[in-house]
Amino acid sequence: MGTPHFLVIPLPVQGHVNPLMQFSQVLAKHGCKVTFLHTEFNHKRANTAGASHDNNHEGSQIKLVTLPDGLDPEDDRSDVLKLLLSMNSTMPALLPKLIEDINALDVEDKITCVVVTINMGWALEVAHKLGIKGALLCPASATSLASAACIPRLIEDGIIDSEGRPTKKQEIQLSPDIPMMDTENFPWRGFNKTFFEHLEREMQTLELGDWWLCNTTKDLEPGAFSISPKFLPIGPLMSNESNNSSFWQEDTACLQWLDQQPPQSVVYVAFGSLAIMEQNQFQELALALDLLNKPFLWVVRPSNDNKGNNNAYPHDFVGSKGKIVGWAPQKKILNHPSIACFISHCGWNSTLEGVCSGVPFLCWPFFTDQFLDTSYICDVWKIGLGLDKDENGLISRGEIRKKVEKLVGNEEVKARSLKLKEKTLNSVGEGGQSSKNLNMFINWAK
Ligand code: UDP
Repeated sequence: MGTPHFLVIPLPVQGHVNPLMQFSQVLAKHGCKVTFLHTEFNHKRANTAGASHDNNHEGSQIKLVTLPDGLDPEDDRSDVLKLLLSMNSTMPALLPKLIEDINALDVEDKITCVVVTINMGWALEVAHKLGIKGALLCPASATSLASAACIPRLIEDGIIDSEGRPTKKQEIQLSPDIPMMDTENFPWRGFNKTFFEHLEREMQTLELGDWWLCNTTKDLEPGAFSISPKFLPIGPLMSNESNNSSFWQEDTACLQWLDQQPPQSVVYVAFGSLAIMEQNQFQELALALDLLNKPFLWVVRPSNDNKGNNNAYPHDFVGSKGKIVGWAPQKKILNHPSIACFISHCGWNSTLEGVCSGVPFLCWPFFTDQFLDTSYICDVWKIGLGLDKDENGLISRGEIRKKVEKLVGNEEVKARSLKLKEKTLNSVGEGGQSSKNLNMFINWAK
């Protein structure tokens, strides 16, 4: 048996690239070969943001290759549907040749398995035709994948209509061991018809993958795995290596600033790579941070990006107790002893990173699976609080201050956060369930 060689293909957004890069690092540590496929656009972007410039990581076990996404350089890639359609019509024809070239360079260890994230199922079709094994790495929660896998049944049972909209307000259970979920919180919340139909087709394509690897643990989401025998929890993917796949340059100076703050004093505020805040909400948040009697670290993505922050700070904003950065080394920050709590949009990566750092959350979900993640944080794990909107649909400065104070003063939440951290990290320790699952997967790929 040779060394398994994985070709890994993420949807080119930060929240997919990060977990797949971490997965690659874990595979490399296990002695596997990994070829990581970036779109040309993202490869350039990560390099501009300061990623290492040689194409090799982790002692040359991870090799980077690229293909075009089919869009023009100036096209708006934050229009994800447009990007998806373009990739779907361009990349499948190019992939067989790329695989052939990789194999020609490495005849001893040809590609044995293709691993994709959601929306890149087309690559599993290509692999299948070439007789190469395939798997999905789900960058969202197992529960959100389980809900998507249940779409046909949910439609049949009349819980959602054919466009994914809940037929009435109710709570349901996908399976007897999964916590109740509000049908408003399905991860396709806010999808239009085209997007929802794309998801339905994608779920069928993903059936070509033998495994649906999930960046989670059995304890975090009990019951979710019973939906399909393909589910395999292998998380949390928590490589200690620095993130060499950031699309923005990380501001590392904020770590020194954190060093100077008292223990458990700083409110960390970050909303991931995609969420955009309305101008009036942005200003309200700024003034809320001024109101807090605490230091804060706030990530405001730069405006030179076509979908970055174009908001103006309120004229009466002082900000003297805090630090604002364009992009932070988030995992290091969350693990810093000065952090008191995390005001988060609750993307799954951020959720898991917060869990693994034992930091309590204030939840501020924007779209897709973030509402579901919020309900896990607040109602299932009980390690955070939700931020409620007022009658104008605004999360007010008073609400933010009230909840920060309530959260940081709550010893029970703190204790539960630390306990959940320990339990979650144990699963990737020696003998942990996720470690066992990962070993099984690697052996399968051989
Ligand atoms: N992230 C980061 N620096 C920041 C903000 C976010 O490195 O200033 C990382 C974060 O650690 C996470 C990813 O970006 O790994 C965001 O993924 P998530 O699933 O939380 O949200 P998305 O960006 O997909 O909405």
